[in-house]
Amino acid sequence: MDALTERVRRAALQHDADLVGFAPISRFDNAPPELHPRTIYPQTRTVIAVAVRQARGTLKTAEEGTYWQAYNCDSYWYLNEVIAPRLLRGIVMELEKDGCTSVPVHNPFHPHTGRRLRDDQPSGPDGMVSLRLIGVAAGLGELGHSKVLLTPQFGPRQRIFSVFTDAELEPTPLFTGEVCDGCLACVRECQAGAIGEDRSVKLTIEGRQYSHAPLDEDACGRVHCGADPRFSPFWTGDEPEGEQPSYSKFLQHRFRHLSICVGRGCLRSCLDHLEKTGRIEAQFNTPLIERDRWQVPASD
Ligand code: SF4
Ligand code: SF4
Repeated sequence: MDALTERVRRAALQHDADLVGFAPISRFDNAPPELHPRTIYPQTRTVIAVAVRQARGTLKTAEEGTYWQAYNCDSYWYLNEVIAPRLLRGIVMELEKDGCTSVPVHNPFHPHTGRRLRDDQPSGPDGMVSLRLIGVAAGLGELGHSKVLLTPQFGPRQRIFSVFTDAELEPTPLFTGEVCDGCLACVRECQAGAIGEDRSVKLTIEGRQYSHAPLDEDACGRVHCGADPRFSPFWTGDEPEGEQPSYSKFLQHRFRHLSICVGRGCLRSCLDHLEKTGRIEAQFNTPLIERDRWQVPASD
């Protein structure tokens, strides 16, 4: 590994990254123009992907039906708002020592909304990129059937962040293994029915083909945020018309993100399967899913 790439890798690890990878910009040649990293930083030569694992206990208490604040605090607010800015800034500052301009890319949720400011812009500013695809392009893992990035270390249990830089860094080889074995637990256990049965969406990076099932993002979003009373424990039945439960509003206000589903299918079922079948490295003393799964009582 060349010296600058190694320095950046060390800086990332020192700032709490668990995984680091480097993708030359050419790996995005087949990306849709509006999702291309150059929509954010036109001079990008290397896309750096970093992964930070979610604490497994935050998934465990959602699985037990006992505690939602840990996931929303640790795995959303803390990783997105505390760890990621510090981690990305650590990488950027290391690159600035060598005169390389570098852009921290946190968690771009919002689609392009502004006007095109130059003729060669494919869309307006502040657009989206796909962090899971960036993880794949930087060699961290593959897309599972569920469209979630699966790594051989943690399966689906991490968040991805990125730095776009004009430095030419040494590419990480693409991941050539297979973490997903097509068990379809993600499909069966997604209460929104958001994940398709057929792995029909294909993409190619440097000749390697990746695939995932179609994901109904609207259906997912509704269950993910607890907007469907059938699948959220926090509806009391007393909510004013059109309003979310007050506890959901508390979670969102306190942690600036809201997950009630906590990936019942695409995250928890998948992780449980990958752990039990020994397909990932991180193993624990007790299973993630060790008894019947909870249901919201129909009459409540
Ligand atoms: S649950 Fe099974 S099919 Fe779905 S992504 Fe995970 S390993 Fe693949
Ligand atoms: S977050 Fe929940 S609703 Fe969305 S795809 Fe995953 S399991 Fe389904």
